[in-house]
Amino acid sequence: MDKQQVLKEYFGYDSFKPGQEALIDSLLSGRDTLGVMPTGAGKSVCFQVPALMFQGVTLVISPLISLMQDQVTALVSLGIRAAYINSALNQQQVYAVIRNAAQGMYRIIYVAPERLDTALFLELCSKIRVSALIVDEAHCISHWGHDFRPSYLAIPDFIRKLPSRPVVGAFTATATKAVRNDIVRLLEMNYPFELVTGFDRKNLYFEVRKPEDRLADLTGLVHRYCDAGRSGIVYAATRKEVEDITAHLKKEGFAAARYHAGLTDEERRINQEDFIYDRIQVIVATNAFGMGIDKSNVSFVIHHNMPRDMESYYQEAGRAGRDGSPSDCILLFAPRDIHLQRYLIQQSYEQSELPDNEAAAVRKREEKKLSDMINYCTRDACLRGMMLSYFGERYYGSCKNCSFCRQGMVLTDVTVDVQKIMSCIHRVGKGADRAAITAVLQGSQDERIQELGLDALSTFGIMQDRDKKYIDACIEHIMASGMAAADSEGVLHLTRRALPVLKGEERVSARVPDIKGAGSNDEDIDTGLMEKLREVRRTQARVHGMPDYVILSDSALVQLCKAAPTTEKQFMRVEGMTRIKYERYGIAFIKAVKDYKKADKPSAAKEKKIPASKDPQVRARAFEIMKELSLSDFEGFDEKLSLSKLIQKLTHDRDLPKGGTLVIRREVSGRLVAHGALARVENEGHTVTVPGEKAAEYGISLIRTAGEDGSEFEMTAYDSTAQEWIVHRIMGEIQEI
Ligand code: ADP
Ligand code: MG
Repeated sequence: MDKQQVLKEYFGYDSFKPGQEALIDSLLSGRDTLGVMPTGAGKSVCFQVPALMFQGVTLVISPLISLMQDQVTALVSLGIRAAYINSALNQQQVYAVIRNAAQGMYRIIYVAPERLDTALFLELCSKIRVSALIVDEAHCISHWGHDFRPSYLAIPDFIRKLPSRPVVGAFTATATKAVRNDIVRLLEMNYPFELVTGFDRKNLYFEVRKPEDRLADLTGLVHRYCDAGRSGIVYAATRKEVEDITAHLKKEGFAAARYHAGLTDEERRINQEDFIYDRIQVIVATNAFGMGIDKSNVSFVIHHNMPRDMESYYQEAGRAGRDGSPSDCILLFAPRDIHLQRYLIQQSYEQSELPDNEAAAVRKREEKKLSDMINYCTRDACLRGMMLSYFGERYYGSCKNCSFCRQGMVLTDVTVDVQKIMSCIHRVGKGADRAAITAVLQGSQDERIQELGLDALSTFGIMQDRDKKYIDACIEHIMASGMAAADSEGVLHLTRRALPVLKGEERVSARVPDIKGAGSNDEDIDTGLMEKLREVRRTQARVHGMPDYVILSDSALVQLCKAAPTTEKQFMRVEGMTRIKYERYGIAFIKAVKDYKKADKPSAAKEKKIPASKDPQVRARAFEIMKELSLSDFEGFDEKLSLSKLIQKLTHDRDLPKGGTLVIRREVSGRLVAHGALARVENEGHTVTVPGEKAAEYGISLIRTAGEDGSEFEMTAYDSTAQEWIVHRIMGEIQEI
């Protein structure tokens, strides 16, 4: 098999990602190889494909037990013979692995660096043929890196003890020159082939927010993500903050857990596993969390505080979206973060054991890094551009996927709109300033416009569909490029330069607010089917005792959903599917697709939005919980709440199943409709519930509220009267039946 076939056959991918092929070729040719690629770029495949093509065994040195376990589980699930040796195994198990290895059972063995100089392991390596030695997370060998591991320094010694020198490969996501040099020097690599691939991760959306109340903002964000079934990481600066945030999120009803260095090993392990196996949706952590995490379906990373430097930030944020799905990296910034970081730098300076001048140099370097980080948080510019240029990459234009570019300007062909504006300036003639021109274009009902008779012009209202900011930006561009000028009174008039554009001989491009309302990331997929496939994945994960994403990554699940295969052939054509995957889980997925297609469409369509709540077991459990609620404990919440929020508050310490809130909500709103407090109306083919004729009496009203992205939406709000009503009357009614 050649590398292409190996990639397809074992890993199910049709093509290599950027950089993979060159690195694979280099290893296959026997040349030492250093690959520097950002997290999620697919470094493992770079050494796993050659491992399946080499004669002997490939040893992979990896710093963390959990990393090894993850990778080996993934390999075994792909039908590749692999094992690991580390302190997670007892002596018996180690012997078993060694025995099997000596008999040539494995293609890939992951090993902890501490194992390399044990007699048992050295003996094994003298018996088997080690074709390649791969150092994963190779930055751990460097003092400059952020995760220095002294045991990595023993690797070259180990290599020398082998009967023949294997090809040496090193992989890392840390790009700085100092670290790269250290890796090559300390691993004693032979004229290695070095490849550094682009650091841009296009699927990551970056945003910096400066909320007044960070905890409230964070809660809102977490709500939004978790309600959509997404899971993620919240990073906080201190253990105390981790504790506080976790407690708060739990109180709000989220499945959250904490992670920091002050916990017992046991609790850390459990919480991490719960996160990996999707038993909890959010993990709140200090920067102690992450290196061992190969979870590919982390779909948001929120930093509650500004991290100390861009390297840390990019590494931590980069844990989102490793499977290539659109994912969000949000940083909540407050100026007091700066003081904390300065304080920490000062502390480590004062406690440094380095000679004075070196300690001062370190401090200076850290201060510089901090100021770059502050710059990222405070400057108005494309965030991705700033980040990439920090890592030494040139980046031009608007990325369209950061908070600046999404709200900001996009280079657009504005010829037609510029023509409209200029012809308006021309028609209005003397006496109109920018504001008046804009008002005419937008068809404003302003009295001044009517008094001047400008509403009779043919250009009146021709840009009704454009917002003011957009028109402003166009006018700005017209003036900046000299096609129009303003006199001392601010009155606009065209210049000769306007002619070629008005005649249609020249086109105009300008940076203007994105008229298309820059892209939502949500793919257009059948959410009902998606939900079914997710269920199958979950069952299969349980059956095989593996995390969900090892069965299929989220992006593979999306592909599967889009393709909706009903035959083996169709299944195999989906990106990411392999023979082994077909044999193990294919039948189950195909059956789910068939069942879904068979189910009569109207009900399938309805199920799209509310799948779990239709499950009879969920319904039964939700009703049980409703009946068990001790309503006499309710003392009222004084703010205005949505109905779901109220239900969550009431049931927060109960084990409400997924979809349960919806079951209760429907039951409650059904009764409110019967009381005339709510009404059902048809809207674009959907039935929606709105305040009814008696809404005011019940304390129910429609309010406008701002979503976390600043967009406004309408919400039916329940004030304390309404909450009383619902709890004591409506819920009471339900409890009685
Ligand atoms: P890294 O170690 O560089 O952070 P991984 O090796 O863990 O990244 O790979 C990240 C994800 O990319 C994994 O889900 C992996 O299966 C996927 N992947 C790797 N190579 C390819 C490829 N050629 N095509 C599609 N997906 C790939
Ligand atoms: Mg990796």
